[in-house]
Amino acid sequence: MSVLYDRVALIGLGLIASSMAHGLRRHGLAREIVGTARSTETRAIAAEDGLVDRVAESPEEAVRGADLVVLAVPVGAMGAVAAAIGPHLAPSATLTDVGSVKRAVVADVAPHLPETVHFIPGHPLAGTEHSGPRSGFAELFENRWCLLLPPPGVDEGALSKLRRLWEALGSNVDLMDPDHHDLVLAVTSHTPHLIAYTMVGVADDLRRVTDSEVIKFSAAGFRDFTRIAASDPVMWRDVFLMNKDATLEILGRFTEELFALQRAIRTGDGAHLEEYFTRTRAIRRGIIEAGQDTAAPDFGRGSAKP
Ligand code: NAP
Repeated sequence: MSVLYDRVALIGLGLIASSMAHGLRRHGLAREIVGTARSTETRAIAAEDGLVDRVAESPEEAVRGADLVVLAVPVGAMGAVAAAIGPHLAPSATLTDVGSVKRAVVADVAPHLPETVHFIPGHPLAGTEHSGPRSGFAELFENRWCLLLPPPGVDEGALSKLRRLWEALGSNVDLMDPDHHDLVLAVTSHTPHLIAYTMVGVADDLRRVTDSEVIKFSAAGFRDFTRIAASDPVMWRDVFLMNKDATLEILGRFTEELFALQRAIRTGDGAHLEEYFTRTRAIRRGIIEAGQDTAAPDFGRGSAKP
């Protein structure tokens, strides 16, 4: 693959940005990769590991002269970072982000950008429960979706270049609008994470009664929940605070269905339970037939890597 960008600036050097750094290197997509993170500790690790070509001391310094800037910080921090870098962006730079929520990020970031900068929000649907500069790996995005959310009137050249970058990292790219994205992700990712957090919390309460049995006899379903519930607390705090409307909408529906199932159990309505589980089983078959998952229960993370 040939070089797509002269200088890529990665703001934040956690799981997603470090995976991008490895992938950009492997596929020779940038002439220079500059990176920065909030803490001196993360910046020191990045320098020591040679994760990027140059570690900058601040986001302002990192973005100077970059033709692609990637915001890879928790979604609640995107607005403040955009405010800091706005005046320092190269006039025709492309600015993207990898945040898990889109409407709120667009609202927080866009006002700080010069008109000549091409702002194309993004979201790679790939992750693990690990975080930090040493958690990344080049294969993270392979065979995963990456959603791009170009605003109306986007520069087509800038969009097609960013699309080629994600494709070169191994992703399938699709376009979406921010509101639709937030609703889809509330169903497929955000609410399931909240349910996992809750289930593990409930089990933790029980553990006090049953000693270590919950962990000792932990069956596959619960182990999957614990893996999801080990995801970064700050990232997920921000996801729920910033995708509030869509998550509450889906949680409302979830609660109604849960009450219906609870009632069926209490009244011994086996027909209702069987009909419901038959319907959900068919959905699972459809997902596997569409090539979106293997039979292994891994919450769509699609990777055995760290
Ligand atoms: P991560 O591993 O926790 O890394 C976050 C990075 O952001 C760190 O380098 C951190 O710096 C920096 N940072 C944190 N707070 C900051 C602040 N207030 N100002 C400036 N920098 C700050 O996170 P990640 O998993 O890569 O996630 C990054 C983004 O990708 C998030 O928006 C998340 O929603 C999105 N995303 C995550 C996943 C996933 O599964 N993890 C998947 C898709 C998209 P320090 O290390 O110095 O603290």
